[in-house]
Amino acid sequence: MGYGGLPNERGVVQLDASFMDGRTYSAGSVACLENIKTPSSVARLVMQHTDHVLLVGAGALEFARAWGFPEENLLTEKARKIWLRWKEELSPADDWGLPEHLQNLRQKEAFLQDFPDIEHHYGTTNVLAIDNNGDIAGCTTTSGLSFKLNGRVGDSPIIGAGLYVDNEVGAAGATGRGEDVIKSCASYYMVLKMKEGRTPQQACEDALHMIIDRYKKVNPGFYPGEKFVAINRYGELGCATMRSNRNPEMSVRTEKGYIRYEGSVAYPLKPK
Ligand code: ASP
Repeated sequence: MGYGGLPNERGVVQLDASFMDGRTYSAGSVACLENIKTPSSVARLVMQHTDHVLLVGAGALEFARAWGFPEENLLTEKARKIWLRWKEELSPADDWGLPEHLQNLRQKEAFLQDFPDIEHHYGTTNVLAIDNNGDIAGCTTTSGLSFKLNGRVGDSPIIGAGLYVDNEVGAAGATGRGEDVIKSCASYYMVLKMKEGRTPQQACEDALHMIIDRYKKVNPGFYPGEKFVAINRYGELGCATMRSNRNPEMSVRTEKGYIRYEGSVAYPLKPK
């Protein structure tokens, strides 16, 4: 993910991505990468052609340039307009948006139609794959949390948080509020759970419960918006989301083409 993603609070699209090879335990990531449309390809090159795991910001861009990636402005017209609308809504006390004498006339509904969840917009893709030899690899790529602070790094490029792969066990990936995923090492946790014998579906659910159990002590009503996916070495699948009124879905490519896998909700929302 890159092009089309929402920018940070300054209107700059900063991308995060990671790649991991479960056979060799090699990994590569980039964070806060600007102007490069395909951060996952840069992450793969970090994995294959350096002895490092994570390159950030200017260094990641320099690395991408060295590999000949073209630089381009990633802020689409649509994303720019959403960012400007967000700035207008940011605070009633700032000088963005309509003149003060017109502010009561604002059509909030129109705004919310464009952008129903202004608080936290996400844009991450997890890809987990097993080849014919049984080798497992994974990739997580994102424009990250919309309107994040300049320089903020999410879970996607953090190995063990947004992605983890182990050929002996399986692979797991995360989307959603990255801060919680980083603090819980969620993808590593899911792989460990599968190693203990849990199915991928159970491992995804275990990780969501683990996060909430921790927060229970400090903020019992808090359910961060996470979604986890997992696959084990036998090709069994898992997918679960934190709190929702409908089951999450993921797309699975099989020998027969694409199928839709429906996962579970850890904390179903009760109908009103
Ligand atoms: N996990 C991403 C982040 O926090 C957001 C997403 O899932 O889209 O940067």
